[in-house]
Amino acid sequence: MITLKFPRTRGLRGVHYQLPDHIQVLLRQYRQRAGQNEMGGLLAGWMRQKCMSDVWTISHFSLPSQDHPAGPRWFQLNRQVAQNFIDDLFVASSGTVYFIGFWHTHPEPHPSRSRPDERVIHDLFRNSRLEISTQLGIIVGNQGSLYAWCQRADGQISELPNKRYF
Ligand SMILES: [Zn+2]
Repeated sequence: MITLKFPRTRGLRGVHYQLPDHIQVLLRQYRQRAGQNEMGGLLAGWMRQKCMSDVWTISHFSLPSQDHPAGPRWFQLNRQVAQNFIDDLFVASSGTVYFIGFWHTHPEPHPSRSRPDERVIHDLFRNSRLEISTQLGIIVGNQGSLYAWCQRADGQISELPNKRYF
């Protein structure tokens, strides 16, 4: 299990995201190889509150799909696919599992987010009816590193440095 811990800042609660082993296996499997386009999908999970932080367990992970436009160095979520995922999840889980963000790959060993990556989350906050105030972005490097950032609805961002997990 990987835990991505975003500490408490400026009076805001900390946010932790737990990635169970089977999701770690999937992220590892989808590392971008030479000649491939970037790929990615959506993340969802459930939350419990601890005294200082919200702890999310990621339970749903959507696999790469041709529905999301991408090139060797860019990735964009298909807005309708994202909306369907959010709506289906809400119904299927009776409102207990929430959409929490998205993952995608980069063709580099030490990835970090781009402006378009931030824009994906910004647009989801603006265009989708979400119950959450923070979203998680995960970028999978091509040699086993993950980069993660947490973006709040007001645009505030915290990030975790690259770390090699697999
Ligand atoms: Zn990116």
